[in-house]
Parts: sequence; C-alpha cells; structure tokens
Amino acid sequence: MISEKALRELKKIYGKRLKTDAVHKIAYSYDATRIEYEPDAVVFPINETEIIKTVKLANTYKFPIIPRGSGTGFSGGAIPIKGGIVISFSRMSRLEILKEEMLAIVEPGVITAELQRRAEKIGLFYPPDPASLKNSTIGGNIAENAGGPRCLKYGVTKNYVLGLDVVLPTGEKISVGKGLQKNVAGYDLISLFVGCEGTLGIVTKAYLKLIPKPEIARSIRADFTSVRDASEAATDILSSGILPAALEFMDRKSIEAASTYTGEKVSAGASLIIQIDGSEETVKHEIERVKKVLQRHNLKGIKISMNDEQEEEVWQLRRSISPAIATLKPIKVNEDVVVPRSKIPDAVDFVYAIAEKFKIEVIVFGHMGDGNIHVNFMIEENERERAEQAVGELFKWVVAHGGAISGEHGIGITKSEFINLQLKKEEIVIMRKIKSLLDPNNIMNPGKIFQE
Ligand SMILES: Cc1cc2nc3c(=O)[nH]c(=O)nc-3n(C[C@H](O)[C@H](O)[C@H](O)COP(=O)(O)OP(=O)(O)OC[C@H]3O[C@@H](n4cnc5c(N)ncnc54)[C@H](O)[C@@H]3O)c2cc1C
Repeated sequence: MISEKALRELKKIYGKRLKTDAVHKIAYSYDATRIEYEPDAVVFPINETEIIKTVKLANTYKFPIIPRGSGTGFSGGAIPIKGGIVISFSRMSRLEILKEEMLAIVEPGVITAELQRRAEKIGLFYPPDPASLKNSTIGGNIAENAGGPRCLKYGVTKNYVLGLDVVLPTGEKISVGKGLQKNVAGYDLISLFVGCEGTLGIVTKAYLKLIPKPEIARSIRADFTSVRDASEAATDILSSGILPAALEFMDRKSIEAASTYTGEKVSAGASLIIQIDGSEETVKHEIERVKKVLQRHNLKGIKISMNDEQEEEVWQLRRSISPAIATLKPIKVNEDVVVPRSKIPDAVDFVYAIAEKFKIEVIVFGHMGDGNIHVNFMIEENERERAEQAVGELFKWVVAHGGAISGEHGIGITKSEFINLQLKKEEIVIMRKIKSLLDPNNIMNPGKIFQE
C-alpha cells in the first residue's frame, strides 16, 4: 500500500492526472487475461521528466511501478499484482517519420496500426503485425517483442528497433542505439530492453526502422484433409525457395467455428493461408509456384486472391477465428507455444490427445511458418483446473521437443511458474543478476517473469 506522503508527492507532479478513484483502479486492474489486481493509483505522464520524477519517488517510498500500454497483453504483464502505480502512456503518443532516414521516432503510447497507417501513407512499411494492432501500443509491443503473421518474412518487433530512450528503474535515463541502421559498439543493450516485459525500464521513445512498402500482397487459402498434409505442404513451399510474407494454419475446429461465424462454407481437416508480397510480377510468378507445390500434397480445395477485395475474402476465415471461438465457451485459455516447424503435426496430435485426456475442448491455429501454435483450451469455469493440468503437460512436451513455452505473449504472471522448465539454472541466475543490478529496490513491475 502506497503511503499518503508518496501520493501527495505524486499529486505535485501530476495534479488531476493522478487518479485514485475506484473507476480508474478497476479499469487499470486487468489486461486480456482478465486476472484482476487493483493499483493504488494510475498516472498519465505527458513527458519523460514526469516519468523520471515518478521512478525516483518509487525508489524513495518503495512502491511498485507498472508500465501499461493498452492492456491487450495475454500474460498479465500490465497487471499490478503487488499494487503500486500504473503508468499509462495514453498521453504520450507523438509520432514523427523521417522519410529519408526510413525511421519512425515514436512515443510509447502510439497505437501500432496508427504507425503502420502513417508509414504506408508515404510508401513506407512497419511490418510487425500482432492481431491486436488496432489497440496495442508500440511500448507494449517492444516490451513483449510482439510478432504476427508477417513476421515469417519480416521478423518480429526487435528486428525494427534501432534505438530506445529508457528510464531505468533507479530513475536515470539512457539512450541506446539512437536509430542508426548499424551499430556494434559495446553490448547490445537494445536487445536487453526489448522483450523485458516492463521489468528493466520504461521505454519513453523508440526509433523504429521502416522499409519500402511492398507493391501488392496476394494470398492463397489451401484446404487439406489433415494438419500433417498442411504441414508437409508448408515445409515444401519453404524448401522450394519461396519465402511467403505469411504462412498461417487453422485446424478443423477453427475452420468450423470461423465458417459458422462468417457463413462461408468450408470443410477441411486443416487449411493454410499463404501470402506473397512484392512487385506485381514477382507475386504473380510466386503464386504460380506455390500452387504447383500445393498440388503435391492431397489438396482438397484452393482459393486465390486476384485483387484487394478478394485478398480480404481469402483471409476472412483466419481473421474471424478469435471472435468466432469467443462465442463457444466463456473462458479461453490461450497458449502460444513454439516448436521446430517439422514437429507441428506431432505437437497438434499431442494437443488433441491431452484435450481428450482432460475432456476439454481445444482449438489450434497459428503461424505455421514460425512453428508458433496458438493452442486455445475452451472451457467453463469448472473446467479451469483440468485446463491448467493440460497446459502443464503441453509445456513439458514442448520443452522436451526443443520448443518454447511462448513465442509472442511473454511470460508475465501466467507462465512464471514454468520459467524453470524453459530456462537453465545458469540463464536464470544471469537474468536475476541483471534485474537486481538495474532495479536494486525491485520496484519495476515486480513479480513478473520470475516468481518471487
Ligand atoms: C485479440 C488479441 C490478439 C493478439 N495477437 C497478438 C499477436 O498476434 N502477436 C503478439 O505478439 N501478441 C498478440 N497479442 C498480445 C498483445 O496484444 C501484445 O503482447 C501487445 O504487444 C501488448 O501491447 P499493449 O500496448 O496492450 O501492452 P500491455 O498489455 O499494456 O503491456 C504489456 C507489457 O508491456 C509493458 N509495457 C507497456 N508499455 C511499456 C513501456 N513504455 N515501457 C516498458 N514496458 C512497457 C507492460 O508493463 C507489460 O509488461 C494479442 C492480444 C489480443 C487481446
């Protein structure tokens, strides 16, 4: 519980932008996990100086600080599990694009889709595309190292971060990288902060790489009898020297759910969505090559986009999975494990087997090209314990088969009990030493990633 004295000091910094009423405490108590812990207060800084002052106060009065973007996180990263002050960046959303440098300079509260829209307006492109992009912030994307369908070809958020301004947990400000395209002087501190889930510092400004916008994008939806056929087709596409922008898959149940939701009648054991982008000529040529490869793999049906309107239609089923499955059961336990791509069919078989064992419904889809599978256990409240056991078995299988327990959503609080399964003891020792070096008073987003 934060002291009255500390609150008075915060009031001096923020005035009316310090909120301690019940509405704000509830509104900032949860994220997409729906787990709830109320903060003592929420603040809305408008500049870095206010953040520095806040962090210094936190060290003096020993209260936790929880950076927060839009709260779309799936691992509880922005939840104030130990109370303290939530820092919302909704009033820090300035965005500047330097066209000649192909660089965007953004504050943390910029919405991902807004950066993409502004870049595309002048022929540039910011590829990382989490499905939450209409709501998520760049600060949250950097803290979680967010990915998305296009990351197969273009890489994840970290591949676009050329510099960061960070307020450290002790209140000093550092600038790392400064937006240069190349820079190998010293340790790579940018990588330390990208993906740190708000535990090592507060990002106050990011320098992001932009690239030329591809001329067009066209996609194929290919339907198969089984996930194994779809997986073999995906491997064949990639080993034929074609690198799609996206290579997504859906299992039978996700196809059924999306099909019922959209009214588009499709029946298949699995489907792939393969997106090719580039110049018109290249795309035309590569689409033909992909078609030939697909025909080697028990193809059941195929739908190809020839224009922008059809492009939307081809993606319709894939984009509808989340809202479609949300109607099936009240709770979605959503995991985003990664396996080596060749192990996807075995992983999916294992998921079906544990769902059968624990008598719960499961829906699987995801980024086939990256080996990143979204496993959704769809449950009622009284099935929660069984779902947790199923998740435990899934994580053990994934780690035993050379995979990772999270490819996109981070560890946060939902997976922190499994971090020892994933990381070796020596790795955890190094990470904990980094944390205590930067944050000796453990004020920055405490209780995340590692259990205390
Ligand atoms: C429908 C849906 C679809 C999704 N799809 C994807 C997907 O395809 N790919 C993917 O990767 N994720 C996805 N996510 C998860 C989520 O959107 C991402 O993790 C996103 O990056 C979180 O952004 P946010 O602004 O909502 O951050 P929040 O949830 O508010 O915070 C996330 C973490 O970032 C930290 N943080 C926020 N701002 C800062 C800052 N300025 N400095 C330091 N730390 C900070 C927080 O402390 C917290 O630990 C999805 C979520 C939903 C609800």
